[in-house]
Amino acid sequence: MTSRTDDLDLTAIRRVLEDRRDGSRERVSGLARTPERGSGLGFGKRIGDGTIEAVSRLTDIGVGSTLERGLARTERALTKLDEGTYGVCDTCGAAIPAPRLRAMPDSVHCLACAAAERTPRPARRR
Ligand SMILES: [Zn+2]
Repeated sequence: MTSRTDDLDLTAIRRVLEDRRDGSRERVSGLARTPERGSGLGFGKRIGDGTIEAVSRLTDIGVGSTLERGLARTERALTKLDEGTYGVCDTCGAAIPAPRLRAMPDSVHCLACAAAERTPRPARRR
């Protein structure tokens, strides 16, 4: 039907995406399951235990949300493979260039929309 993804190995891409999804899921559930990993085991007995712990928790939270965003995108890309809309931008419907899909198989947006999404929105006043 569509010709724009003809030169892409969708089977290989699906495999890459599934691998990535499984790996991300494992890491996300690992982070959720072990928030206090290693505490009380004498691991961080050097300086400023509490500080180190607080910092690492913040880092974990950051990593966690990045992971979850990546996981959501990977899952979306897999859904698009199922739907037959892989390679079509979710936002504007434009074709995503094959080289971009090869470089980033979990791309669900064209370059312009992805760039727009990455641009931080101005913080809203409360
Ligand atoms: Zn777009």
